[in-house]
Amino acid sequence: MTDVENKKVIVIGAGLAGCEAALQLAKKGVYVDLYEMRPHKTTGAHATQNPAEFVCSNSLGSSDPTNASGLLKQEMKILGSYLIEIAEAVKVPAGNALAIDREMFSQKVSELLENNDKITLIREEITQIPQDVPVIVASGPLTSDSLAQDIKDFTGSEHLHFFDAIAPIVEKDSINFDIAFYASRYDKGEASYINCPMNKEQYEKFYEILTNAPRIELKKFEKDDKFFESCLPVEVLASRGVDTLRYGPMKPVGLVDKRTNVENYAVVQLRQDNLSASMYNLVGFQTNLKWGAQKELVHSIPGLENANILRYGVMHRNTFINSPELLNATLQCRKRPNLFFAGQITGTEGYTESIASGMLAGINMAKFLNNEELLVLPKVTMLGALTNYISNPEQKHFQPVNSNWGIVEELIVDKKIKKNKKLKNEMLSNRSIEYLKNNFKA
Ligand SMILES: Cc1cc2nc3c(=O)[nH]c(=O)nc-3n(C[C@H](O)[C@H](O)[C@H](O)COP(=O)(O)OP(=O)(O)OC[C@H]3O[C@@H](n4cnc5c(N)ncnc54)[C@H](O)[C@@H]3O)c2cc1C
Repeated sequence: MTDVENKKVIVIGAGLAGCEAALQLAKKGVYVDLYEMRPHKTTGAHATQNPAEFVCSNSLGSSDPTNASGLLKQEMKILGSYLIEIAEAVKVPAGNALAIDREMFSQKVSELLENNDKITLIREEITQIPQDVPVIVASGPLTSDSLAQDIKDFTGSEHLHFFDAIAPIVEKDSINFDIAFYASRYDKGEASYINCPMNKEQYEKFYEILTNAPRIELKKFEKDDKFFESCLPVEVLASRGVDTLRYGPMKPVGLVDKRTNVENYAVVQLRQDNLSASMYNLVGFQTNLKWGAQKELVHSIPGLENANILRYGVMHRNTFINSPELLNATLQCRKRPNLFFAGQITGTEGYTESIASGMLAGINMAKFLNNEELLVLPKVTMLGALTNYISNPEQKHFQPVNSNWGIVEELIVDKKIKKNKKLKNEMLSNRSIEYLKNNFKA
């Protein structure tokens, strides 16, 4: 028996990061009390009481390893992520992206937790960070108010808030396929997206409805905040100019209806949301519009004139700590070594990133309990780049970060290669995978 066995860790939050962390700890023989406040208390964004619920889109981003998010997934597979393995098992068609059936995903995570005799799932809110016991805080961007207050008191630094937004979901059977068509951009991969085309006149009408639609009144603290740039509500994007959407989520290039061979003025794309393909979400349409206005807007889109809206878009607060001041790249708290943070609350933004930091926090907490050297991944890996980024004390105006090539260690190659984006990304990706394969076995 190693030192670590029979020790117990409290993990706060059975979300993406918390479930992954708990499973990593249990793998090393550590007992885990996994606390989840739902269903007694909800976050406003979660719709079920399931562990590891996907609150918005059902996509974990690209699975192409020459894409930053795709590389992170490859790394997680090598390091033995449980949740990525489950995601692969319940994936739905989405071109190059790893999109999942969210119900099945949560169900499989629940089964793993329930069948693990080291893990106890306790349905209770934790209002204060427990003292004198090892703890992983994985309470997410919608951490309950009392715990958020305690974290604030403990860290002594201000929390930062910003927004994320949810896109509406419609029922496939209510889509008019005389107008809508299946296609992938430039015919790449499977034609799994449903596309709703618009001509100039239709786009202008849609734009007018969108820019005049009433929005849900924000609370005072929310009004002072900034939107998170990569998840801007569709109405905020639209307010930046009449063509902003046509160069963003409604980009028509490469999306041709083979029945007409016409390239359109704008296109709304819909992505499959569940395995049975009965639900589709409007890509890039996260929104804070009032529900009546959302209905009018969705019904103004050709092909969706009679769409049955299964879930309306909403906007929410997002809470994260000032990690550069508080955490090491191991996700361990500098001023309390038996306390780790994981998930979106650390500023690793996104589903995949949250699972990844949960995995690392679980691995490192087990190492900490076993008096082993903690794992610090180098910046040649995407996960190492992320954890180095969020824990860099030189970071002044800290904002959460997704996986991206800008944070990884630069390649020492000549300018010609640097300009060849595809080749450069391939080299960056190979460098990371080679490093991990040489140093780790799953
Ligand atoms: C509205 C919204 C939409 C998002 N959409 C996307 C998206 O489309 N794509 C994407 O990549 N990322 C998205 N994100 C960002 C992020 O990837 C997700 O929030 C992700 O679920 C974060 O994982 P997590 O494990 O950190 O937190 P969560 O998955 O939220 O898990 C935290 C868990 O802790 C529980 N909890 C909170 N406080 C307590 C407490 N005091 N005691 C006990 N339990 C507690 C919560 O109920 C929850 O189950 C979105 C975030 C929000 C808020």
